[in-house]
Amino acid sequence: MIKKGGGVSKRIEEFMEKVTAKNPGEPEFHQAVREVAESVMPFIEKNPRYQENKILERMVEPERTIMFRVPWLDDQGEIQINKGYRIEMNSAIGPYKGGIRFHPSVNLSILKFLAFEQVFKNSLTTLPMGGGKGGSDFDPKGKSDNEVMRFCQSFMTELSKHIGANTDVPAGDIGVGGREIGYMFGQYKRLRNEFTGVLTGKGLNWGGSLIRPEATGYGCVYFVQEMLKTRGESLKGKVCAVSGAGNVAQYTVEKLIQLGAKVVTLSDSNGFIYDEAGIDHKELKCVMDLKNVRRGRIKDCAKEFSCKYFDNKKPWDVKCDIAFPSATQNEINESDAKTLLKNGCIAVGEGANMPTTPEGVEVFQKAKILYAPGKASNAGGVATSGLEMSQNSMRLSWSREEVDKKLNEIMVAIHEQCVRYGKENKHVDYVTGANVAGFVKVADAMIDHGLV
Ligand code: NDP
Repeated sequence: MIKKGGGVSKRIEEFMEKVTAKNPGEPEFHQAVREVAESVMPFIEKNPRYQENKILERMVEPERTIMFRVPWLDDQGEIQINKGYRIEMNSAIGPYKGGIRFHPSVNLSILKFLAFEQVFKNSLTTLPMGGGKGGSDFDPKGKSDNEVMRFCQSFMTELSKHIGANTDVPAGDIGVGGREIGYMFGQYKRLRNEFTGVLTGKGLNWGGSLIRPEATGYGCVYFVQEMLKTRGESLKGKVCAVSGAGNVAQYTVEKLIQLGAKVVTLSDSNGFIYDEAGIDHKELKCVMDLKNVRRGRIKDCAKEFSCKYFDNKKPWDVKCDIAFPSATQNEINESDAKTLLKNGCIAVGEGANMPTTPEGVEVFQKAKILYAPGKASNAGGVATSGLEMSQNSMRLSWSREEVDKKLNEIMVAIHEQCVRYGKENKHVDYVTGANVAGFVKVADAMIDHGLV
C-alpha cells in the first residue's frame, strides 16, 4: 500500500472540494470518487504523468450524460411519466458497458457513482470494456407484465439512439432481469432492424451466454475463495450471511452451498429470513421461484421453510464467518460492521455495488479482515457479459463448463491484480489494490489517445 503523507491528504481534499462543487447534491457519486481518490492519489504522486495529464480530473467527468422522458400507458389507460438516463462514463479501453437499474431511488447521483465504479471494475476484468450505467426511477414492483413491457419499449425507443454493439452495451441490474432485457432487446431489434449483441443478459435461445445469470454471485464466491486461500482457509463449513434475494444473492447462495458453506440468511427490502440449519438447494429453488416468477416477498419463504423472519431488519446481527452484502448501496454502516466483527466475521465479499459506507469500510480495514470491495468481487457479472459479447461477435456459443472456467480464471486474475497493487507486508488492502490496478489500465489508454 502507498502511504498518504500530509501533502497528499491536502490534495485529496482540494480535489474533492472541486468534485463536490461541480456535482452538487450527488452524495453517492462523491462517496465513490473519494474512495478512489484516497487510493490512487498517492500512486499518482509517484507517477507524475497521470497528474500532468489530469487523468483523475478527466475520469470524474462523464464523457456523455443522456437524460430523457419515458412516457407510457398503465393498465388503466392512464399516462405515466418516468425519467430515463444513460451515463457514458469512459470508453478509453472499449465500448461503454454497464447495467440498467429500474428502482424508484434512481437518480443522477446513484447512476454516476455506479458508472464511475464500473470503469474500474471493467478494467479489472482484463477484458476490453469501458464503463457506463443507466436506468430509470420506474418501479417494476406491483406492475403487470404488460406494463413492464410498455415501459421497456418506451425506454428503449429513446435509448436505442445512443447505444450499439460497438458503442455502448447495457445489461441488467436491480429491477432489470431476463424479462426486462427481453422486452428491451425486442424493441431495439424492431427499431433498428438488426440482430446484434446490443444488450447482455439475453435469453439463451436469442444470443445469451450460459452462466451469465449465475456469474456475479458465482464470481463473488470465487473471489472470496481466493482471499481465504491467502490465509490457508476455505469455504467449507463457513457460516455465511447473505443479504438480498435477487439475481446476485441467489447465485451466491447456490455456489456457497455447492462448496460446503452454510448460508443462514437472505433478505429483501422488507426484512430477512434466518435459517439456522442452513438454506438448502430445495429452499433456494423456492426462493428463485418466489422472486423470479411469483414476484413475492421473502417473508413468504419463512412460512414455507418454517424458519425465522425479522421484519424491517438487516441480517448483520446474525453470527457469521463471512458476510455477502448482495442487495444495494450503503446497506452495511459503521455499527453493522462493528457487530459483524464482534460476532467473529473474518471476511466480506461485496456482491452489491458499494454496499458498505465509508465508516463501515474503515472498521473492516482497521481490523484487517479479508474485505473485498464490490468493484473487484462482483466483477464476474460484467466479465461474463464481456464473454457474451465475444460469443455474439463470433456467432458462437460456448459450453457451461467453458464459460464457468473462464469466469473462474478472470476472478483469480482480478485477485492477483489486487494483491499486486494492494499488498502491504502480509496483509492485502483490496481497496487500494482494486482501485490502483483498475486506474492504471484506463489512465494509460487515455494518455495514449491524447487529449480527448
Ligand atoms: P435484483 O433486483 O435481482 O435484486 C435486488 C435485491 O436487493 C432484492 O432482493 C431487493 O429487494 C433488494 N434491495 C434492492 N434495493 C434495496 C434497498 N434499498 N434496501 C434493501 N434491499 C434492497 O438486483 P441484483 O441482484 O441484480 O443486484 C443487487 C446488487 O448487485 C446491486 O447493488 C447491483 O448493482 C449489484 N450488481 C449486480 C450485478 C448483476 O449482474 N446483476 C453485477 C454487479 C453488481 P426488493 O425486492 O424488496 O426490492
